[in-house]
Amino acid sequence: MKIAVLSRNPKLYSTRRLLEAIEQKGHEGRIIDHLKCDIIMEDSGPSIYTDGEKLTDIDAIIPRIGASVTFYGTAVVRQFEMMNVFSAVESLAITRSRDKLRSLQILSRAGVRLPKTAFTNSSKGDNKVLKHIGQAPVVIKLLEGTQGLGVVLAETDKAATSVVEAFESLKTRVILQEFIKEAGGADIRAFIVDGEVVGAMKRQGKEGEFRSNLHRGGNANIIKLSREEKSTALKAAKSMRLAIAGVDMLQSKRGPLVLEVNSSPGLEGIEKATGVDIAGKIIEYIEKSATKKRKTDG
Ligand code: ADP
Repeated sequence: MKIAVLSRNPKLYSTRRLLEAIEQKGHEGRIIDHLKCDIIMEDSGPSIYTDGEKLTDIDAIIPRIGASVTFYGTAVVRQFEMMNVFSAVESLAITRSRDKLRSLQILSRAGVRLPKTAFTNSSKGDNKVLKHIGQAPVVIKLLEGTQGLGVVLAETDKAATSVVEAFESLKTRVILQEFIKEAGGADIRAFIVDGEVVGAMKRQGKEGEFRSNLHRGGNANIIKLSREEKSTALKAAKSMRLAIAGVDMLQSKRGPLVLEVNSSPGLEGIEKATGVDIAGKIIEYIEKSATKKRKTDG
């Protein structure tokens, strides 16, 4: 098979590992920069050109679309889908997962356990919406934040109201969320491929930090998930229609609570923490699914 990794940077660990795994399993791999793709629509059908070359022989793609280029990146993924190329992650699922509010709405509908979260259009000077969450401390998150930036812990109701007002004055949308204190500045990431948890790690924030993001100086260690944690992660990924996903959860008194489902989860932290060949598992999933797709298309 000819499998393309959609990535802007061939030097990234995840990109390199995926290419390596493609070749190890006897396929032909290439990296395509999605921002260098032109999307052509005409009555003879959809096509994609990159650097003047028409892409005609790709069997499957693995999208690695960064959050800052979601719009263009997902348009390219969608164009491949229109050309009947198998995508390891559906364009629609990427779009959904990139919107924190939309993701939480979908997870809530599916009955996935979450920290209680509120979104409002009118918090002007009162704290009515705060009452849904209960008492401070509360977590306030920018809707479009990533890597822990734009995640604020407000210790008192007053602080929460001021922070929400400050964001509002900047015309920035935020959500308010129940603070899960007992998580102790740690979260767990379950990596899912094809309906199975293939690796899991616990990330601990640095001393005095409630955010566990590795980009914020946290560290990661392998962890064995409980049955409940596994089933919660699988349910979350399934409700987001993601066959490959990184599900982030907090360990709370009432069991695992899902924070986020990532559609382009990085491989470096999880492969290093667990020693599992996750890139290889992703290629095995593509082999199975792309072949099945070709049979049904044919
Ligand atoms: P981002 O998408 O920017 O990483 P997250 O929602 O994942 O934002 O939050 C970043 C980190 O902050 C999480 O990994 C977790 O450690 C901590 N955190 C987020 N929400 C809560 C919460 N409701 N209660 C306790 N800790 C939280």
